Amino acid sequence: MILVSQDAEGIRMAALEVFELSLQSKSIERRIQNIRPDDLEQIVKIIPERKLSPGYYEFLMYLLWLEGQMEAGCNFALNADEADGLRAVQQARHEFDREHPACGNCGTPRASVRARRCESCMREF
Ligand SMILES: [Zn+2]
Repeated sequence: MILVSQDAEGIRMAALEVFELSLQSKSIERRIQNIRPDDLEQIVKIIPERKLSPGYYEFLMYLLWLEGQMEAGCNFALNADEADGLRAVQQARHEFDREHPACGNCGTPRASVRARRCESCMREF
């Protein structure tokens, strides 16, 4: 059996999938930004057609929450799984940013790196 929290590659894939989904759905994006540790299972349920087993998304949501707390200035003593997991999330975010560079005008991520126009402010690239 695979231990989800030790499978950095699986976490990276789940993160990339969730970032793509939140680009398509503002409501998913909002819920993920306001995530709470007691809400992890609920959030996983709103992710349609998950590619991986639910455990990946639950751990991912926990990591996103943890990341948000750390950005807000909370200090945590991370264990090895958490540190590796956060690194996998960052890796996925870099991949996502490469494929969806932010619009220079309004900052919205582009639908794809090949998009010719911002879907939010309509500026042409
Ligand atoms: Zn724009």
